Amino acid sequence: MKIRAAFFDLDETLYPLGNHVVALVGERMNQYIETELSIPHEEVASFRDHLYRKYGTTAKGLVIEHGVNLTDFLHYSHNVDSGKDILPAPKLRRALSDVPFPKYIFTNAERFHATRILKQLQIIDCFDGIMDVFDTFPDTKPSPKAFEKVLWMTGLDSSEDCVFFDDYPVNVDTAHELGFYAVQVGRRGPSERADAQIDRIEDFLTLDIFAGYQ
Ligand SMILES: [Mg+2]
Repeated sequence: MKIRAAFFDLDETLYPLGNHVVALVGERMNQYIETELSIPHEEVASFRDHLYRKYGTTAKGLVIEHGVNLTDFLHYSHNVDSGKDILPAPKLRRALSDVPFPKYIFTNAERFHATRILKQLQIIDCFDGIMDVFDTFPDTKPSPKAFEKVLWMTGLDSSEDCVFFDDYPVNVDTAHELGFYAVQVGRRGPSERADAQIDRIEDFLTLDIFAGYQ
């Protein structure tokens, strides 16, 4: 198979699951909800859980149900110091550099955060573009519409011969249903429809689908 493009989730896909930076962003989201929406501290977790289950992301729920300004919320919550937690990834850089097809970031986070993380991993120049939440909003992964928008933005007429990497099972399942070769990265939980699974993103070239590229 000649791969036409690969789409990579950012957080906990390009760096390992459970990295401290995710907790930092989560704390900032909680602070925003507590101070801007006056939600009591002890109710923030269940409040966010409700929004996540109903809308797929906390941010989307805040915009639709509470009229929150998306830019304000995302800039506030992603304003964290990730310098100590996200380190250069030379093995991933080599793997990305070894494959000739276009590579894109497809994230439910925002571009400022994605750019900073990619710079810290020292792989930002390995990608041909970043599609973020503002590009797909109000659709976000796992909505099929978000995937369709991203394909359109990259000039691809279909998901055929396109690879998708993500840590969230529901995103991987949707990608598979839409025709992507869907790879789950890490072990967040079982994906029912993944075409393949790898523990670490830097090992993606070991997958059979990349056999012709090594
Ligand atoms: Mg992720």
